[in-house]
Amino acid sequence: MQRKVFQQYLRSLASFGLTDLPKCDRQVAEAIRSSCKDLGNSATGQGLSQPTVRSGASDDSDSQESVLLPKASRLQVLDDQVRACQQCTDLANSRTQTVFGVGDVNARLCFFGEAPGADEDRLGEPFVGEAGQLLNRILTACHIQRSEVYILNTIKCRPTNNRNPTEAECQNCRPFWEKQIEIIQPDFICCLGGVAAKTLLGTELSVGRLREKIHRYQKSKVMVTYHPAYLLRNPDAKRLVWNDMKYLMREMGQPVD
Ligand code: SF4
Repeated sequence: MQRKVFQQYLRSLASFGLTDLPKCDRQVAEAIRSSCKDLGNSATGQGLSQPTVRSGASDDSDSQESVLLPKASRLQVLDDQVRACQQCTDLANSRTQTVFGVGDVNARLCFFGEAPGADEDRLGEPFVGEAGQLLNRILTACHIQRSEVYILNTIKCRPTNNRNPTEAECQNCRPFWEKQIEIIQPDFICCLGGVAAKTLLGTELSVGRLREKIHRYQKSKVMVTYHPAYLLRNPDAKRLVWNDMKYLMREMGQPVD
């Protein structure tokens, strides 16, 4: 079985254009074995009820893994783990599907939202409902295509009745988005709304207090603005978000009027 899994693993590397592997020392061999185990579990759907990714800064085995696997492949392995996750029992039982993230794996800019809603749960993609349409219009005004950015949420399953995620649900899902950001390594992260800002920055401050400043998350510059769903309920705040986006675009070296 291990041999079969290893062959699948090599085929997946080849499909992403990786034709040579570096000479293996013991640590690298261990990273390969670990990746094979993850892929084997993904293939069989067994043993993945808990997130197996680690939180916090990269360690040696992570950097070995990054040498071995392209970003898209690493995200696919992580997505498979998310699909099998049952950590939040209520959410796992009520979801139609998990909503992992979408966009350019090499994006300079990530949008970090809150949680999937009904449309996202149905379609498996973040920000596809009414709030997502508004985000698309904001991107267009900034001369950015949706496919150029990466979009993810703090949790991957829809909370019933569109309630806010609980603290426990945010903690359960934390290793997944931490790993996503670690893989993508965006230069900029735009937090959409208070839940995203609180989760990423570990702060209790309101969006109103956090906006118009550059914060830091590891190597990324972070900006905070209001969630598009908030704008749908409070259209007057659109002007504030537009100011925030212009600020972000200037920071990114792509100013808009
Ligand atoms: S929200 Fe995250 S941690 Fe909770 S069940 Fe879904 S994928 Fe797992």
